[in-house]
Amino acid sequence: MKLKLVKKNEEAKGSVSFFWEPEKPVNFLAGQYYYFTIPRLIYPDPKGTTRHFTISSSPTEGNLLRLTTKIREESGYKKTLDELPIGAEVEGEGPNGTFIFDEMVTGPQVFIAGGIGITPFRSMIKYLVDKNLKTPIYLIYSNSKDDFVFKKELDEMIGAHQSIKIKYLVTEVDGRLDELKINRFIGDWKLEIGNLTWWLCGPPPMIDAMEQVLGKLKITSDKIRSEKFTGY
Ligand SMILES: Cc1cc2nc3c(=O)[nH]c(=O)nc-3n(C[C@H](O)[C@H](O)[C@H](O)COP(=O)(O)OP(=O)(O)OC[C@H]3O[C@@H](n4cnc5c(N)ncnc54)[C@H](O)[C@@H]3O)c2cc1C
Repeated sequence: MKLKLVKKNEEAKGSVSFFWEPEKPVNFLAGQYYYFTIPRLIYPDPKGTTRHFTISSSPTEGNLLRLTTKIREESGYKKTLDELPIGAEVEGEGPNGTFIFDEMVTGPQVFIAGGIGITPFRSMIKYLVDKNLKTPIYLIYSNSKDDFVFKKELDEMIGAHQSIKIKYLVTEVDGRLDELKINRFIGDWKLEIGNLTWWLCGPPPMIDAMEQVLGKLKITSDKIRSEKFTGY
């Protein structure tokens, strides 16, 4: 399906959201992704013209699909994406994916985001807030630098919604997320580690490391849901 670029927004240094109008309304669930194909790249890219991107908007936000990514000089695809004029069209295929929030679930959920892995959680949290769902959400958002994508929006959402809590971790300052930090956060939030469902999203090495950390905490795989942003 053709998707038309209607708006761009810089979210943090080098990270940009692109808003797309689909040629007909689409039904997607919070956490799903699309394949985006740019018909002609301005800059060559050995990985080709297609990437997967999560829809960072929520289904409650209207018809536009929001894609959020970090633009890197090394990626011909992303450099081309960044230079597309408003009105340009790409080919979108989706929605895809099962990393989706089930609104019937009421137990406490821990979301762990590594860098741009925040995108599905932004969609899910916005969905929860807009639907006024009371599922307790505990987001641990780890980023290499202190330029968290969506920070202002997330802070506004938690300000308005008692059942959502966030810890920001700057890797350069706080170090990586490990068992000690998780135990400390669980203590701060007064949670029972055995009652939680864990959601992980980010680059594959981060997911692998987090699965090991959760394993050491005796959290079984049936309590863990992962979305690997392969391609990083
Ligand atoms: C289900 C799914 C959902 C996804 N959702 C998203 C999403 O919402 N947002 C998103 O951004 N991506 C998402 N991705 C990943 C996305 O599809 C791309 O694979 C990814 O963004 C990398 O794109 P790229 O190779 O064009 O560019 P980049 O990896 O950004 O840059 C190209 C090259 O730069 C180099 N490079 C990369 N990182 C560094 C670094 N830190 N330091 C130095 N050099 C570096 C590498 O050589 C890399 O090949 C998702 C993937 C999947 C599977």
